[in-house]
Formats: sequence, C-alpha cells, structure tokens
Amino acid sequence: NLCRSLHTSPRWAQEAAQTSGDAPQSYEFQAETRMLLDIVAKSLYSEKEVFIRELVSNASDAIEKARYLALQGTQMDSSEAGMKIHITTDKYDKTLTIQDSGVGMTKEELIDNLGTIARSGSKAFIQQLQEAGNSDPQSIIGQFGVGFYSAFMVAEKVEVHTRSRLPNSVGYCWASDGCGKYTIEECEGVEPGTKIVCHLKIANREYADEQTVRDVIKKYSSFISSPIDVNGEQA
Ligand code: ADP
Ligand code: MG
Repeated sequence: NLCRSLHTSPRWAQEAAQTSGDAPQSYEFQAETRMLLDIVAKSLYSEKEVFIRELVSNASDAIEKARYLALQGTQMDSSEAGMKIHITTDKYDKTLTIQDSGVGMTKEELIDNLGTIARSGSKAFIQQLQEAGNSDPQSIIGQFGVGFYSAFMVAEKVEVHTRSRLPNSVGYCWASDGCGKYTIEECEGVEPGTKIVCHLKIANREYADEQTVRDVIKKYSSFISSPIDVNGEQA
C-alpha cells in the first residue's frame, strides 16, 4: 500500500513549521477528490512532468486574478509589487517550489478549492472514469489533466503556504500526502500569494534538478505572461 508505506519515514514531518502554536486541523478530502487522488498517486502515466505546467498555470491564473481585482479597485494588500513566478529546486531536499504573488487563498478558499473538485476538468475525469469502469485511468489522466492534484503524481507530500491579498488576511499552511486527509494551520511569515512545495518521491527526484525543470518550462509554459525565474534566473 503506497499510502501506508509513506508514513514510515516522514522526514518533512520533523521539520517544525513556524506556526501560531495552534495544532494543525485535520480535514478529509471529499469522496470524489479521494478517488481522484488515489488514481493520481498510483499513476504510471508517463508524462508526469505536466504537473509543472499545471502548477505554473495556476500561479499565472492567481497573478491575473490579483491584477484584475486591483484594476477593479478592490482594496488589496499589495506589499510585494512584482508579479512574478519564482521556482526553486533543491536536490538535497528533493523539493520543487513554485511561488506566486497572486491572489492567495483564505482558509475557506483552501478548503473549497483544494479539498473538493470544483474544477470542470477533474469532474469530467471522474465521470469518465466511472463510465469507463476503471479500465484505463492513465489515458484519462492524459486526456483531462488533473490540475493541482497532478502534483501527487510526483510528490509524497505537498505543502501550500498561502495568504490572501484581501486586507488583514493571515497566512495558512495546508499539507497533505494525498492519502485521504489534509491539514490546515495558521502560519506566520507567509508572503501574500501562494507557495507550493512539492516533496518529491525518490523515483521522481529529477524534478528537483534545475535543468530538467527549465526544459519542462520551455516545453509547456512559453505562453505564460508573467515572468518566471528558476533559482533566481529567468526561465
Ligand atoms: P483549475 O485551475 O482548473 O481551477 P486546479 O485543480 O488547477 O483547477 O486548481 C483548483 C483551484 O485551486 C483553482 O481554481 C484556484 O481557485 C485554486 N488554486 C490553485 N493554485 C492556486 C494558486 N497558486 N493561487 C491561488 N489559488 C490557487
Ligand atoms: Mg489549474
């Protein structure tokens, strides 16, 4: 069992986050999301690199949303001016981090957007899967794309650090190993926007390699309008 075996060496579990002191609250993914994650985590889908495209496109969407709200005159925390996507790789820690200075998420938005399947593509995926009777989930992943959840194809744990740009927002850390549950806790020191940390499975450690990541971005994300940098240098 993939999920159970992951609990044996949670190095990341020992890295104490800078939290407010409240215990992290645990939540269960909605049933449809659990089903999707189960398939995604066990995925043998060969083009796993598309998870980078999905996370970069979410970062870009979030930046566009922040721009739009600002243009509309919505009062917002604009403490970090540059609307950029920062990607960092850490080979030693086997992490890939994607940070944007976009709209960020409130606690409610974290629960609604990452705990349930709102996304039409993922809904269609589940529907198709039920109709196909589980016959070939791999081809269906390729057909629909699974958005944020695609990170669980390559990561044994995903952390989302986010702070909404709406005034007086506090930061939250969301974390999950994709095995049915996720936690949310208030976190200090979170920049406005969203930072997604993918703790890669050993088999997928290539995505902590800078050149690999640059190549994937070149392949899929040339249409992204926000500037992207990888380890501080333009992608
Ligand atoms: P989609 O992008 O098609 O809506 P995803 O699964 O990729 O579906 O993302 C689900 C939702 O999670 C998004 O619609 C958005 O509300 C939220 N989200 C994901 N990534 C970010 C981000 N970097 N910043 C803000 N919100 C995000
Ligand atoms: Mg998306």
